[in-house]
Amino acid sequence: MRENPLILIVEDEPRVSRYLRSSLQMSGYDALVAPDGVKALELVQENRPDLVLLDLRLPRMSGLEVLENIRRSNDVPVIVLTANDAEEDKVKALMLGADDYITKPFGARELQARIVAVLRRYRPAEPAAPRATVYENKDLRIDYAARQVTINRKAVHLTPTEYRLLVTMAENTNRVLTHDYLLAHVWGAEYADDVHILRATIWRLRQKVESDPTN
Ligand code: CA
Repeated sequence: MRENPLILIVEDEPRVSRYLRSSLQMSGYDALVAPDGVKALELVQENRPDLVLLDLRLPRMSGLEVLENIRRSNDVPVIVLTANDAEEDKVKALMLGADDYITKPFGARELQARIVAVLRRYRPAEPAAPRATVYENKDLRIDYAARQVTINRKAVHLTPTEYRLLVTMAENTNRVLTHDYLLAHVWGAEYADDVHILRATIWRLRQKVESDPTN
């Protein structure tokens, strides 16, 4: 990651994007703005941001379509901005690969907390055995140093959130993990009640790592 993480703001309302940009810059981030989805996809390719803040209500291409497009080739963390009455969009966004969401209206402090929590997942997960560099169980292999996951020697691309969840579950295969434990361990203590985010991420991870996700 760069010294100042680069955040791409995807928002069509200039008033909102200006507010976001200045509050991010005050917190020590670099920020770029895309006013629509087409521009957003271009900037993701060209600038490789460290995080994307994605409004779901956009002209030309909806935020969900933008997210779907990003996820075809990119594991950059994405936080979606949703309206208060859009519960369904929130769940869809999580299932499409969003790492987190914030409900509008929100304050600078809440935004900052969510960004810190998501970027924190980039940190390498500590392996259960201190000197272990690789985890192997049946078809699954996790290389901690390279942050690389393979199933049957085929690479699986995971977002930082999915990666942390997989590592936590893999290292505790013989224990029953509660929702609370997983949320606190993978997302952070402030997410303790967020069962939506846990269910959607587990579902997504299963699509990626299990040969038969219904099992
Ligand atoms: Ca908007």
